[in-house]
Amino acid sequence: MAVTAEGWLLLGSAPFAGSFLGVLVWRLPADGTLWGRSRCPCCGHALAAWELVPLLSYAFQRARCRHCAGAIDPFHPLIEAAALAVAAWAVLLGPGEALLADCLLGWTLLALAWIDWETMLLPDALTLPLVLAGLAEGVLGGGTEVPERALGAALGWAGLAGLAWLWRRLRGIDALGGGDAKLLAAGGAWLGWTLLPSVLLIAALAGIASALVQSRGRGTGLRPLAFGPWLALAIWIARLHLGDAP
Ligand SMILES: [Zn+2]
Repeated sequence: MAVTAEGWLLLGSAPFAGSFLGVLVWRLPADGTLWGRSRCPCCGHALAAWELVPLLSYAFQRARCRHCAGAIDPFHPLIEAAALAVAAWAVLLGPGEALLADCLLGWTLLALAWIDWETMLLPDALTLPLVLAGLAEGVLGGGTEVPERALGAALGWAGLAGLAWLWRRLRGIDALGGGDAKLLAAGGAWLGWTLLPSVLLIAALAGIASALVQSRGRGTGLRPLAFGPWLALAIWIARLHLGDAP
C-alpha cells in the first residue's frame, strides 16, 4: 500500500509525539505538571534540544547522560518507538480515511494503557478530553454520526459503571475502576454504540489471556489486573479494523 504524504508526515512526527507521551506518562500520575524543562534525573542538568531528539539522542549518547554518565531510562526510547509503531499500524494497515485522527486516538490510548499498566489509574485528564474528541470528530464529519456516538459514550460509561456497581453490591469488591467506564465512554464516542460489544469482547479475551500468561510465571503474588490496556487495545483494533466507524 502506497504511503501518502500525510502518512509520511505522521510517521516522522510519531517519535516526537512519543516523547510528549513520555512526559504525560511520567508526570500526570505524579504531580500533573506537564511544562518545565526536561532534566537528567541523576544530576539535574537541563537537557538541550539536541539531547531530546527522540530515539536518536538515546542511541548517539549510548544511553548515558552527557554530564554525569548516568543511565538514561530505556522508558524514553521505548515509548517513542511504541508511538512510531502506533502510527505505522494506522498508516500501513488502517483504512487511512482519517489518519491524523487515527494517530491522535492511538497515541492517547497508548499513554492511557501505559499509565494504567504501571499505576492502575486512568487519569480523567486524558479520558474526558478523549470523549469530547470523539464527539467532535462526529460534529466535524457533518453531524449525522453524533447521536450514535453520544449514545455510544453514554452506554459505554453506563455499562461498565453499572457492572462495577453490581459487583460491589454482590461481592463487595471493586473489580473495575471508574476510569475503565470513562475509557469505554471514549470508545463509544469514537466508534458509535454498535461496536461496543465487540470492544468489550476483545478486551475481555485479551485481559484473560494476559492474566493466564502472568499467572503461569509466578504461582503467588498475582497483582490485580489492569483492564485499561486491554480496553485501549480493543478500541484501537475496532477503530482500524472493524468496519466503518459509525
Ligand atoms: Zn546527568
